[in-house]
Amino acid sequence: MTPKRITPSIKKDVVNPTDYNRYEHRWSCDECTHFDHKGACTLGYPSAPHRLEQQTKDYLMSGRIAFCRFHEID
Ligand code: SF4
Repeated sequence: MTPKRITPSIKKDVVNPTDYNRYEHRWSCDECTHFDHKGACTLGYPSAPHRLEQQTKDYLMSGRIAFCRFHEID
């Protein structure tokens, strides 16, 4: 029997370096309407991969970022 492959459950998208440097970063939980003052997502999604600090770290390490498809800004 083939052992189960271990893969990341959250897909990260490639971000063009020019775009990364050109635009303000408003795609993290820290900027989202659904992010509460306790540091959690009010919709119940895991916020850790979508926090600005983690996204910055991911981008600098791999050129990829985990974007949340439910992100909203008022
Ligand atoms: S909806 Fe997505 S971006 Fe917004 S707080 Fe929840 S996990 Fe973060």
